[in-house]
Formats: sequence, structure tokens, C-alpha cells
Amino acid sequence: MINRILGRSKIRVSEVGLGCEHLEGMSESGVKAVIDAALASQINIFDVFIPEPNVRTHIGRAIAGRRNQVVLQGHIGAAWQDGQYCRTRDVALSRTFFQDLLERLQTDYIDIGMIHFVDSEADYHSVFDTDVIRYALDLKEAGIIKAIGLSSHNPVIALQAVRTGLIDVLMFSINPAYDILPEDTPLDDLFTAAPYQNGRLAGTNPIRAELYETCAMLDVGITVMKALAAGTLLQAATSPFGEALTPAQCIHYALNRPAVASVLVGCRSEAEVQQAVQYETAAEAERDYSLVLSRTAKYSLRGQCMYCNHCLPCPAKIDIAQVNKYLDLAQISQANGRSPALPATIRAHYQALDNPASACIACGSCEGNCPFGVPVIARMRQAAAVFERQG
Ligand code: SF4
Ligand code: SF4
Repeated sequence: MINRILGRSKIRVSEVGLGCEHLEGMSESGVKAVIDAALASQINIFDVFIPEPNVRTHIGRAIAGRRNQVVLQGHIGAAWQDGQYCRTRDVALSRTFFQDLLERLQTDYIDIGMIHFVDSEADYHSVFDTDVIRYALDLKEAGIIKAIGLSSHNPVIALQAVRTGLIDVLMFSINPAYDILPEDTPLDDLFTAAPYQNGRLAGTNPIRAELYETCAMLDVGITVMKALAAGTLLQAATSPFGEALTPAQCIHYALNRPAVASVLVGCRSEAEVQQAVQYETAAEAERDYSLVLSRTAKYSLRGQCMYCNHCLPCPAKIDIAQVNKYLDLAQISQANGRSPALPATIRAHYQALDNPASACIACGSCEGNCPFGVPVIARMRQAAAVFERQG
């Protein structure tokens, strides 16, 4: 299992993580079997938003004695009332259920305290203009949480939140279907085919791209939910690309977005855990999502690097997808008039590459292989000019 660093939180997380929401309603032994399978597969990050008491208790018993092997992403503002889940911005209620989380998970700290499910402008203000954010900051100052997170499906709201500088980790819904949707798509429409029929789609939505790039520049780590678009992408009939993608292709797509550290896969059985971690041993060809996306006549992703590395091999051994990703980050930073125009973190990432863009010998093989028609040679020259000039 490959581990990645979750942005400025510096927490090391497995690139495939476990979403625990499907464990609700299962027996204690069933929950333990899933947790055991996850830990045996070296999955170390568990997202626990569910406030239902039994499942919290079962998860706590399953990780007892192994707390140091687990990174817990626990939610602030998920409560249990009248026998059902609810989201709350009431600080006292949030405190009660966060304390409940600590007790039932048998721990005195949560690695990532995730402010739960902020999707609307009004709700944004009910978090950032109130004592809710103060509560999260107090938890961090007290060492009860190590990092402050926020979960959202709305790129505009997520971007606003990230730009406050108060959020260390973003939990966001990322997959190639959602990435082509307008930013104002209602949450409920994310689970239907309707938004793909409105004719407004043209490549990756710029607000979503800006969100990922802003996270990379501010060193906010992203954990991903809904990487499989709630199963929509796994069937040709419902995939907006007209053909099914595999779980490995969906996970790979999400992991290739800037700032993403872990994709959280909801599992309800050992078999589902095994299926999720098959990503780790899948061949590059099995992970490659580029052909499905590029074959779509309906939405043009032409000319836009999808960070897929379908263009390899490169005789100069350049990691073309990574160079393009860093160049996109630098260009968006420049376009937005940020200072410095080239953030030090992006330059440092570029300098850590084994081979610079200037090693390109313009053989053209990548351009023949790229299904999206990216002018790679010109991009390598631009990258060399941006990253390799002195001073
Ligand atoms: S240049 Fe083309 S093939 Fe290469 S990573 Fe970008 S989109 Fe993929
Ligand atoms: S054109 Fe440059 S980047 Fe593309 S394969 Fe050849 S050497 Fe590599």
C-alpha cells in the first residue's frame, strides 16, 4: 500500500482508505471483520461520520489496542436524534456527539476533525461566522484533533472554505463525471443522469480545477469521497461517458488530481475491502482511464491534460503527467495574479522529479499516444521556461 502525506497536516495516509458509513447496521463481528481486513491490507485511514451509537461502539472495539495504526477522520456536526442521523450547527450538540465519538472509539484524540457536510452559502456562514469554527479551533488547540477538515460536495463553497486558511484537510467528492458538471449542480442531481443531459458541459469545470489547484498551492490535503459516483460510472447505461469505468480507473483518476492523498472507499465486507485494495496491484493499463474519457463524443476534454500518463513511455523518462500538473498549477497561479506567481511548494515538487522537462528531445511519441491531443512538446518547453530559469 502506498502512503501519501495529507498536505500540511503532515499525516501519512494510505492512498486507499475506508469509508465506514456502510458498516452501520452490521453486527460487531461483521464490523471487526471489515476493520481487520482493512488493517491487514495496510489501509490506515478510516472516515467515521456516522453518529449511530452501535456502529461507533463496534468500530471502537475493533480498533482497540491498535489505535496507533489508525488515522481517524471524525466528523464535527453529525448527530443522532430520534433514532436517526442529522447534521447540526448547534455547538452544544456538536460537542456532545464529538465527545460521544471519542468515547465510543476509545480514544482521546481524532486525527482529522472534519466539519461535516457544508454545501450551501447559508451553511457556510453558519459555520464560519459562528462558534462552530471556534469549537473546531479550540479542539485543535487542545490537541484533541490534530487537523481541521471540512467535507463538501460544492466546489464554490469548498474553495471559499479552503481560502480562509483555517482548513487543513478537505473531504470532497471527486470523479470524472462530477468534474464535468457545473458548480451549481444540486447535490441530489449527482445521483441521477439528469445533469449530463443539459448541454452545458464542456470539459473539466474550471471551478473544480481551481479548487484542486488551490488546495495544492495552500498545501491542503484532499481525501476523496464518491470516487465511483455512487456506482454511476461502473455501468455503461448510467456512465455519462457512454461506457463503464472500473473501480481501479475511478480511484486512479481521483488520486491523480492535485492535492489528493487518499480515496475513501465504502466497504461492507472483507471481499469489498479486497476489491478496493486491488487497485494497489492493478497494472497501469488496468488503471488507465484516458481512453474511456477521450472516446466520449459528447463532452470535449481535448487539449486538456488529464494527468493519465497514457503518453508514456518517454525516451527522456519524463513524468509527463506530473510536469503538466505542476505547469497547470503555476499557470493558474500566474493567471490569478498571486504573489509569488510560482509558489515555492510547486517549484519544490517540480525539482523533486527525476527528470526535468528540458530533457525533452521532441521525439513526438507522446503526442501520438495522447488521446486528448495535448501539445506535449510545447508544454515541456513552457515548463522548462517556468521552472528551470534561474532566480
Ligand atoms: S499529455 Fe495526454 S496522455 Fe499524457 S498525461 Fe496528459 S492527457 Fe494523459
Ligand atoms: S516529445 Fe519529449 S516528452 Fe514527449 S516522449 Fe519525446 S522526449 Fe518525452
